[in-house]
Amino acid sequence: MPIAVYPGSFDPVTNGHLDIISRAARIFERVIVAVGRQANKKPLFSTEERVEMLKAVTEDLPNVEVDSFDGLLVQYVRRRGAHIVVRGLRAISDFDYEFQMTLTTKKLDENVETLFMMTSSEYSFLSSSIVKEVASYGGCVRDMVPPVVEKWLRQKYRV
Ligand code: ADP
Repeated sequence: MPIAVYPGSFDPVTNGHLDIISRAARIFERVIVAVGRQANKKPLFSTEERVEMLKAVTEDLPNVEVDSFDGLLVQYVRRRGAHIVVRGLRAISDFDYEFQMTLTTKKLDENVETLFMMTSSEYSFLSSSIVKEVASYGGCVRDMVPPVVEKWLRQKYRV
């Protein structure tokens, strides 16, 4: 059974991400959740903070590892001895970007396959940006993120 890499910003990890991670962990021998350092994006949480939160919320999943990466995803995937990338799909609006990314990945390394997992219906509206927007105005994000992430958000926004 193969190793899968689940890359993303995870700024911060939401229940939607966690749903994909736990479902992927039932399919693959090993799932590497890889936080992109992407210097051009301006995340709310540092890479280290995002990794720490992911580690905390996946600690009961023994075949899930959390890591971070710089640069091209295909290079990272190869370096880790994997050839499968997992991504989540929420709505049609995700499709264009994911299609472009998948074709680019294929062009850079034809051995890397990208597999998509459909969101569970209760998380189809959920994104890290929505969570940050709600939390920044002091709104309740209890149903959107694990409790430890809620705590981090409250500290960040001092609400
Ligand atoms: P990126 O910046 O690479 O899009 P994200 O952290 O926003 O990273 O998302 C990582 C992956 O998780 C993407 O494939 C995204 O579509 C997926 N994802 C995000 N939110 C959800 C959700 N609520 N349900 C299913 N998949 C999701």
